[in-house]
Amino acid sequence: MHGSGWLKENEMNAANILKSKGRGVVTATANKSLLDIAKLLVHHGIGCIVIAGNDDKIAGIVSERDLMHAIGQSGAKVLKEPVSDFMTKKVVTAREADTIDQLMSEMTTHRFRHMPVVERGRLIGLVSIGDLVKIHVADAEFESGAMRQYITSQPSLLFDQAYRL
Ligand code: AMP
Repeated sequence: MHGSGWLKENEMNAANILKSKGRGVVTATANKSLLDIAKLLVHHGIGCIVIAGNDDKIAGIVSERDLMHAIGQSGAKVLKEPVSDFMTKKVVTAREADTIDQLMSEMTTHRFRHMPVVERGRLIGLVSIGDLVKIHVADAEFESGAMRQYITSQPSLLFDQAYRL
């Protein structure tokens, strides 16, 4: 991917992330029980579900943290309750043009790990902190590889390193 399609971390935005991971978002309606939500999380191997409202609008978001919080406070009986009572209703969303830095900063400020991406009022994808970390690691590996290649292609630099030791 380097050379042609490779984008550096600071050149990437939410649209680039969705292009590589896909636009699928697991959603549920607000009347589903917390147990239904737990099953969805496990089935899809994910950490949060977007709760869809009427006309494609986002009604809320619920993550594994909300589930643990509810169970920790009220016990397992809470799993029968509707997710609408436990979801976060004020959802912070991202735009396709938001950069990795902006997304990371929003997630750090608000202390959450997921951001639905919305364009023209429609949910078009979801970016998680895992997606951002993946890009960061790939970028760091690329840079260290390029650095290693540069150093080994310059015998004088190798000699300089050895001399300094
Ligand atoms: P998370 O770190 O994503 O598991 O979420 C931690 C808390 O933040 C939970 O109470 C979630 O409901 C809430 N949350 C997660 N993502 C968002 C978001 N994009 N906007 C608002 N709240 C969120």
